[in-house]
Amino acid sequence: MDNKEKKEEYMDQSFRDTIGTVDDQGKRNWVYPKKPSGKFHNARRWVSVVLLAFLFSGPFIRIGGQPLLLIDVIDRKFILFGQVFWPQDFYIFVLSMLAGIVFVVLFTVVFGRIFCGWICPQTIFLEMVFRKIEYWIEGDFKYQRKLNKQPWNAEKIRKKLTKHGIFFLISFIIANTFLAYIIGSEELIGIITDPPKEHFAGLSSILIFTGVFYWVFSWFREQVCIVACPYGRLQSVMLDRSSIVVAYDFIRGEKRGKFRKIEKREEVGKGDCIDCHQCVDVCPTGIDIRNGTQLECVNCTACIDACDHIMESVNLPKGLIRYDSEEGIVNKKHKKISARSIAYSIVLVLILGLVGFLLFNRSDVQATVLKTPGQQYQIRENNEISNLYNYKVINKTFEDIPAEFRLIDMDGRVEILGNSTTEITAESMAEGSFFIILNKSDLQERKSDIELGVYDKDGNLLDEVETTFLAPVKTE
Ligand code: SF4
Ligand code: SF4
Repeated sequence: MDNKEKKEEYMDQSFRDTIGTVDDQGKRNWVYPKKPSGKFHNARRWVSVVLLAFLFSGPFIRIGGQPLLLIDVIDRKFILFGQVFWPQDFYIFVLSMLAGIVFVVLFTVVFGRIFCGWICPQTIFLEMVFRKIEYWIEGDFKYQRKLNKQPWNAEKIRKKLTKHGIFFLISFIIANTFLAYIIGSEELIGIITDPPKEHFAGLSSILIFTGVFYWVFSWFREQVCIVACPYGRLQSVMLDRSSIVVAYDFIRGEKRGKFRKIEKREEVGKGDCIDCHQCVDVCPTGIDIRNGTQLECVNCTACIDACDHIMESVNLPKGLIRYDSEEGIVNKKHKKISARSIAYSIVLVLILGLVGFLLFNRSDVQATVLKTPGQQYQIRENNEISNLYNYKVINKTFEDIPAEFRLIDMDGRVEILGNSTTEITAESMAEGSFFIILNKSDLQERKSDIELGVYDKDGNLLDEVETTFLAPVKTE
């Protein structure tokens, strides 16, 4: 059978009519994946250890006294690497999110779902934490299946209670960590240490989060990747024939079949796949990668390790299942850069450039000045005209700032109602009113554009704002 015939045979897509985790009656097929091991699994385990350490320590890491990451949706305050972002910086956030999405799309176009297998918290928690505990308490897949089928006895009750007790405890720890990213670690410690009645809402949130995580990792599991994750659903539009995915080399592997004499397989028309089913047994989403790239595949690499192990044991070259593209397998072309990825790269660079520019020019203090509604101008003594304005000044820093408004490149003065300076407390907004007073002889038009600066006590310009000034008539 040549490559073309093999491809045609391989293109049979009838397997896509069913989902591996749902039976004919529409009921859930529980997946019992075989315990994975091998080179890729070991590498993923180390990556997971680093990422988990980072995730759990994140809320307690401080940069300049501020959290590394805080997503305080309640107070609409976001801290990233010690820098605070307010709703006024929302456009930077939106652009950063856009850049993130383009990056993920670009990464997916070139490298497929590597993110899912190596970085996604769902995969890391499920495969590297919860399933490890399950293997430790209930044994490998065959023992788990047997345990679930056997009637309730002392052994089953003990194992299930231990497993679910530990699952709940870990879910509780994860819930606390996620909450710490939302409300901050100090607040979280307060919720835990203060009397429960003082933090009823906080404690309820922890329990709700714990319940959700426990449900996801003990029962919903791979269904998150198969039916709930939007990134997973988008794979079909992002992947192309050049994308690197976990792929079965059907050119080399087919026609699959059990045949003991490896050296004579070619003679009897057999490929390198000995149909041992190991790649299917280890799959945590219950699919057969030999059917081709599938939405359910989270690129966990378990089948690569399993098949490599088999290939080694039968003295055939490893890599029958490997990271490769369809182009690489069928035509032996390993082109990684397509027109689509170049286009995405250009968009990404443009967005990142814009985000960088906005971040670089982002001021710690942001002022808004608007003319007070219903007010035009006031004629004063000494040939002076005044206009009344309302102002708002946001202090995005973590320190109080005594600020002062001054006119830029113009004679005149600013008279704040009540005070001469505005004290803007840290992470808050000050608002009030002021008069701008100009000499009539300096005004050439009925409506003049003027520029105001917000200065700190040392005379440093913190922000600039433009507004208009109304005068009674055009002066000669
Ligand atoms: S593990 Fe390799 S040899 Fe065994 S069935 Fe899967 S692809 Fe074939
Ligand atoms: S097909 Fe392979 S890489 Fe994909 S989810 Fe299954 S075991 Fe993991």
